[in-house]
Amino acid sequence: MYTLSYPVVDVDGCAVVDVDGENQTCACGNDTYAADWYAADTTGAVTFCCSASTNPDEHTLCPACGRLYRNADLFTGTATAIARYDTHSPAFLAAHEQYEGDAYGRDRS
Ligand SMILES: [Zn+2]
Repeated sequence: MYTLSYPVVDVDGCAVVDVDGENQTCACGNDTYAADWYAADTTGAVTFCCSASTNPDEHTLCPACGRLYRNADLFTGTATAIARYDTHSPAFLAAHEQYEGDAYGRDRS
């Protein structure tokens, strides 16, 4: 296991993916139709560079609760959360802000 990029909290739960693979629903109830999930690289670091990536070694993050899923697991239909970031930690909030800026432009706020 690699070193994760942000402080973590205890994790449980799994995400479920629609049969068509279009929608993913997190253990917290947030789904990808309601809110864009974040892309994270192979080390779990949030980065817009990996957005829409299908690289199985990269990750997808639910921004609502901080659960992190492996892309490879999401392809299977049910993905067990491998970690859950502390969404209140300064490191995560900084990454969150950076991602939003990269995704939507820095003027939006
Ligand atoms: Zn979630």
